[in-house]
Amino acid sequence: MRERTDVCGRFAPSPSGRMHLGNVFCAVLAWLSARSRGGRFLLRIEDLDVRRCKPEHARLLEEDLAWLGLDWDEGGRRGGPDGPYFQSECSELYAQALQMLKEHARVYPCFCSRADLHAASAPHLSDGAVLYGGRCARLSPAEADALRRRRAPALRIAVPEESVSFTDGHLGHFSQNLARECGDFILRRSDGIYAYQLAVAVDDARMGVTQVVRGQDLLSSTPRQIFLQRLLGLPTPEYYHLPLLVNAEGVRLSKREKSLDMGALRARFTPAELTGWLAFLAGQQPAPEPVYEGGARSPPKPTNPYIVVSISQKRHFEQQKCKGFLHRVCEAFFGRVYRKNGAKRGFWPSFGRKRPSAPRRGKKRGRRG
Ligand code: GLU
Repeated sequence: MRERTDVCGRFAPSPSGRMHLGNVFCAVLAWLSARSRGGRFLLRIEDLDVRRCKPEHARLLEEDLAWLGLDWDEGGRRGGPDGPYFQSECSELYAQALQMLKEHARVYPCFCSRADLHAASAPHLSDGAVLYGGRCARLSPAEADALRRRRAPALRIAVPEESVSFTDGHLGHFSQNLARECGDFILRRSDGIYAYQLAVAVDDARMGVTQVVRGQDLLSSTPRQIFLQRLLGLPTPEYYHLPLLVNAEGVRLSKREKSLDMGALRARFTPAELTGWLAFLAGQQPAPEPVYEGGARSPPKPTNPYIVVSISQKRHFEQQKCKGFLHRVCEAFFGRVYRKNGAKRGFWPSFGRKRPSAPRRGKKRGRRG
């Protein structure tokens, strides 16, 4: 494993479609955060689910990042000393981690179907996710063997009645009781695909990642990742969870919406405009100006004091600037794009709207098991 003395950031997209504005927002801020500290930056392709993720999307992703001028030292097709950088090539590493976890915690087969999990009696969390009731945790070895003859099981890890807390660089203190707010979670699916939680915990550590800058939709996954890191004796990076950009209906952007994907954005804006506006929107610079000098593969402007401040300054920014200001900023730039595509209302990110959902503890918001 890498020494953790040097700052190392990463962008870890899933190539399930073309990047949209929200993905670009994460990429810009992750890049700025690492580069402005003189750190390494790496690109990890999270293509665990080979049915949803396509090599052509991964190729486009690299091309779009290069077009934006967001360079990386290692990863993607460029490779590097901590490869593989494509999760689809890392099964052996995840299998080793799984083996270690079995030595330190209870890992058990789970035969529940999706329908079983969503049964009316299952406790549902507010976002529709299901708290696993532990049905298969109670199976005897003989019962499990009998079921195994009929179908391949997923593997779950039993979680303790314990809270995992961390300080998010943007949102502050966050705590989750694993047993009550998350439940025993999946490490490997019944089709043999390793779970995102396990893969990310292993990969961030083996690649020497010291800071994780990503969307707030992954906030509730973080305690699970920290729990796994602790069991595996791995270091915990710093975390910064960013507000999600939403569309005119207030729904987070998805790769299905083509109006704000990189194809549409590249046709309308220059890389300097896009990255400059996004950095400005996040409070990283006083004006929507280019974030780097001299085009691709050059470091952030060393003279700009806003870029070298921590991303956590955005909290201050949020408190200081009024909602109306953010609306105007977004309307002035991205709203233009959005209206061109037929939307009636403007488009703005979720900052300045209701307080981010994160600090309301007790809710499982992640989309991953
Ligand atoms: N692969 C995830 C995504 O595209 C991001 C994972 C992470 O940053 O930890 O949403």
